[in-house]
Amino acid sequence: MNVYAYGYPRLGKNREFKKAIEGYWSGAKTEKEMIDTILDLEKERLSLYEKNVDKIPIGEMTLYDNILDTALLLGVYKVEDLKDYFELCRGKDALPMRKYFNTNYHYLIPDLRNIKEFSYAWDKTKRFYAKFINGKNVDIWDFKAENPEVKSKENYLPVYFSPFTFIKLSFHNEEDFEKLLNSAINVYKEILKDYDEVILEDPALVLELSEKEVKLVKKLYEELSKVTKIYVLTYYDALEEDTFKALLETDIKGIFLDIVNGKANLDLLRKYKDSLKDKEVILGVTNGRNVWRADVFKIKEALEEFKDLNISISNGAPLFHLPITIEGESLDEKLLNKLAFANEKLEELNILRELLNENKEERAKEWTKGIYTSFGEIKEIREKIKNLKEEDFVRKPSFEERNKIQRNLLKLPLFPTTTIGSFPQTQEVRKIRALYRQGKLSKEDYETFIRGEIAKCIQIQEELGLDVLVHGEFERTDMVEFFAEKLEGIATTKNGWIISYGTRGYRPPIIYGDIKRPEPMTIKEIAFAQKLTNKPVKGMLTGPVTIIAWSFVREDIPNEEVAYQLALALQEEIADYEKAGIKIVQIDEPAIREKAPIKKRDWDKYFDWAVKSFRLCHSKVKPETQIHTHMCYSDFGEIINYILDMDFDVISIEATRSKGEIIKDFEKVNFDREIGLGVWDIHSPVVPSVEDMKKIVERALRVIPKEKFWINPDCGLKTRQWQEVIPALRNLVKLALILREEYKD
Ligand code: GLN
Ligand code: ZN
Repeated sequence: MNVYAYGYPRLGKNREFKKAIEGYWSGAKTEKEMIDTILDLEKERLSLYEKNVDKIPIGEMTLYDNILDTALLLGVYKVEDLKDYFELCRGKDALPMRKYFNTNYHYLIPDLRNIKEFSYAWDKTKRFYAKFINGKNVDIWDFKAENPEVKSKENYLPVYFSPFTFIKLSFHNEEDFEKLLNSAINVYKEILKDYDEVILEDPALVLELSEKEVKLVKKLYEELSKVTKIYVLTYYDALEEDTFKALLETDIKGIFLDIVNGKANLDLLRKYKDSLKDKEVILGVTNGRNVWRADVFKIKEALEEFKDLNISISNGAPLFHLPITIEGESLDEKLLNKLAFANEKLEELNILRELLNENKEERAKEWTKGIYTSFGEIKEIREKIKNLKEEDFVRKPSFEERNKIQRNLLKLPLFPTTTIGSFPQTQEVRKIRALYRQGKLSKEDYETFIRGEIAKCIQIQEELGLDVLVHGEFERTDMVEFFAEKLEGIATTKNGWIISYGTRGYRPPIIYGDIKRPEPMTIKEIAFAQKLTNKPVKGMLTGPVTIIAWSFVREDIPNEEVAYQLALALQEEIADYEKAGIKIVQIDEPAIREKAPIKKRDWDKYFDWAVKSFRLCHSKVKPETQIHTHMCYSDFGEIINYILDMDFDVISIEATRSKGEIIKDFEKVNFDREIGLGVWDIHSPVVPSVEDMKKIVERALRVIPKEKFWINPDCGLKTRQWQEVIPALRNLVKLALILREEYKD
């Protein structure tokens, strides 16, 4: 049995990747220094693979994103040097980003809508192969240099994105799909003929593909199998039966099936046992997306069933969803004994190799000794969850009735203006927080500083003339980590960074036990802000689904229960807001779409608990308390009906990039809530003009009655500079004044 691994994180133990590339951007590092660091990281990656597994993928490193690199391979963009390269990533006309399947990794979306055919250009994988495996002197990021020749070496497998996934994830005209794929096949034949065997990464194969797409997949692999031996890499879910069958009918050499995140793959294996005789099946047996150690004995047992097949193993799902190592983390010993980050997942594969191939049990026993220890149980919380009844998820009275009450109380003008919550997290704010965290600043001094920032922020909003104010979120590092630190049952790490896009990382907390709110989490800051103004200040919370989506979550109870536990904690927090005189509460759920399962047929089940967890947060509030939610993405159409069920009073959404067209999705449903369409794209440093913003509103007013319309930016202002925020908000308020005049009767 062979052991494979893939997707090891590029970040580095001490985020060397980020520091090198951002250092290069800022001018603090030369190109050579930056590249040297990247090559060191690659060396480290290869040595870890070599130490732990048999089969090693080559070509995974990128300076920003592998989908972008595939676009360059196929000549979609002309790039001469690193300056051009990074322009595509983060320049004025940078490619837009989208979440990669149902993960929080964002890839750059290439645009193929004007591409007639592909051409063979910069071949990163071949360069890595030539340099690291053939020992040639190759300058990998010299975009003008010829691609080197390579000589295949056993056990080292070059990795490329499959053209199918690549096109599927890019902007393209549906009617051009086949043409584009055919053109890619030609280029890939030229690339692949130089290798003995190769891995094609094709996660889009787990989507629910059309009949036509399945045919194209079959053709792709029939054609490419003519030039070399192909291993098809899939993950995140199981293949659909027709896709699987189509692949079996081709001459591919092997296939990676994720049996952790795609249990249904096992049924396919059982059903098609006889057609699999001439293929190597690599089962993804350990979880690349979560931090828990696997029960290696159970894996061994489960594999028994397939011993007649040509089985190998690997991680299921790429390891870049995990931090580098648990080493150096000062977590509770009991918790540590259950955890494995990327390095430890490689070790886990190594342990499996010993166990499966040599029947050595010693390390396996050591590895699993703590995985079933139970701790972090809170009886009272379990009871509460068990006793939840349908009515606990229902807010009363109806929207119509409470909307009247809220209007009477809040007395907001037509087209009320507000922001999404955060204001600029300046260098200073980050510096002071770092000092506090390092223990160099007392709690009192830190809190005094935060209060100062809140006071300034309130004053600025008053001066601008906004109607519903926020406190600015200066005390929060991150909208999930902040709550994780305050709640029982969730651990946070010192160094558990993972990349969300490019060089940007975040530290997902680890939900390991039952969740309890030991004390109020945000009341101090919000109540302080409210005392400074007569205008309403919004209480600001992160919703249960988003906390789950951006954390590592325990697997001993269903996500649904974890979500309800979080909701109960938020419910208590909202009750405290009411006591403190807060009239508006916003519960952010930006991840509710992303967390939706890959297969649409699984959506009803998911949205059922996702929506219920939101309702549980606010079902007990007073009629006069106005509940807002916020989401930021532009494909609403598919989920709008689920969203309506959340029973909020007001929703704010991103709309600028679609120029308000997103409202189409609301046209189709009976949408009776208040809504704030984003009129300012906060991802860009450009200050929007009153006219631009007005167009978005006018488009929307054809659908939404003016009484229900709010004016706000697309998202929080955390990443912007004050000098952009002030003029943009000034325009935003000006817009509201103009609209009030125009639409007054
Ligand atoms: N309240 C958060 C903020 O303003 C919302 C962020 C988000 O939607 N991602 O930063
Ligand atoms: Zn947002």
